[in-house]
Amino acid sequence: MSLSHGREHLAIPGPSVAPDRVLRAMHRASPNIYEGELIALTDSVLADLRRVAGAEGAEPAIYLGNGHAAWEAAVVNVLAPGERALALATGRFGPGWAEVARRAGVDVELLDFGFRAAADPQRLEDRLRADRAGAIRAVMTVQTDTASAARNDVPALRAAIDAAGHPALLMVDCIASLGSEEFRMDAWGVDVTVGACQKGLMTPAGVAFTWAGPRAMAERVDARSAYWDWGPRLHPEIFYQRFAGTPPSQHIYGLREALTMILDEEGIEAVWARHAALAGAVWAAVEAWGARDAALALNIADPAARSHAVTTIRTAPEVAARLRRWSAAKTGLTLGVGLAGGPAAQHDLFRIGHMGHLNAPMLLGALGVIEAGLTALGVPHGAGALDEAARAVAEAASAAPRETIALESLPSVG
Ligand SMILES: *Cc1c(COP(=O)(O)O)cnc(C)c1O
Repeated sequence: MSLSHGREHLAIPGPSVAPDRVLRAMHRASPNIYEGELIALTDSVLADLRRVAGAEGAEPAIYLGNGHAAWEAAVVNVLAPGERALALATGRFGPGWAEVARRAGVDVELLDFGFRAAADPQRLEDRLRADRAGAIRAVMTVQTDTASAARNDVPALRAAIDAAGHPALLMVDCIASLGSEEFRMDAWGVDVTVGACQKGLMTPAGVAFTWAGPRAMAERVDARSAYWDWGPRLHPEIFYQRFAGTPPSQHIYGLREALTMILDEEGIEAVWARHAALAGAVWAAVEAWGARDAALALNIADPAARSHAVTTIRTAPEVAARLRRWSAAKTGLTLGVGLAGGPAAQHDLFRIGHMGHLNAPMLLGALGVIEAGLTALGVPHGAGALDEAARAVAEAASAAPRETIALESLPSVG
């Protein structure tokens, strides 16, 4: 029999679950695109995109597109063909962005940290020290690599660039982490940030963002593309130029609602704390499952290097694929496929997305389905995973609210 009739649940690292409020806000006729409400609404969304990225000093741009679009937009505005960039690899998405840059003519060098660890700032510093001529114009990195679930320490990477006395710009892909993990573009000395709407920002896929800091603006290059060019998008003479064409009106309404929920209702620091708490419940469950025969294990051993938005789980061969098929067919829960560079990863890796519009019952429900699937498939696993997840939720829920830290009071790293 099937137990899947009810609300379908995507527990994958994007698209995340969109709140009904966001969907309702999008469900409307297209408004006047020449004047009136949409223009003011877009300005308020741009202002809140600055707030959500801690980027008051940066200029945001909105592109119709997914994360790959924003990857390309960031690259072509900052790096000219033949210029050198150093891309940090901690999974699949860092190399993916590097490949986009390579196709745009950039001379990209990969600094590879493997699939099971965050980037080591010391290795970055050493590599930059060796670049005496300062040929490397930019360091490109993801904050969270959504394939490995590694989380890079962005302030430590900035500190490594500074310790080497190197002038490289720091470009950070926050597509998976924005609205899920702490990120402070200005305070952390990030020059270019890249994001998209369908993960922590809780809006159906369709728009993506770049934020250009002052140095990136001052040192930008000819974008060699009228469409990606920051020029008219950032400083439009008429509204139409903001999107190099027709505006994504319904997405602006949806984003307006999502940003209000994140920034004005829950509060960004509470959003980060909620993601940390729910991630902790996932880790506790996986550790319990893996206690017997190690049939399941967290891909990232070091808790400080783990994403709060997605968890990658290693299993015995075929277990991941069978579990995903079982949960989708029998329960309506979609789990994330394994991504590690070859089709084999899909058989022994799976991912749980825990980003965006997610509360404890949604997450505990997903963990309960995984427990049921392991039992149904006869996969040996440790007992007590749901007890551990419930305990993690109970402890987080009874913790005192985090003290609010004013953004201005944080030391600038740059
Ligand atoms: C999802 C993701 C991307 C790609 O975004 P798309 O919308 O699928 O193009 C890039 N980088 C990271 C870190 C991501 O999580």
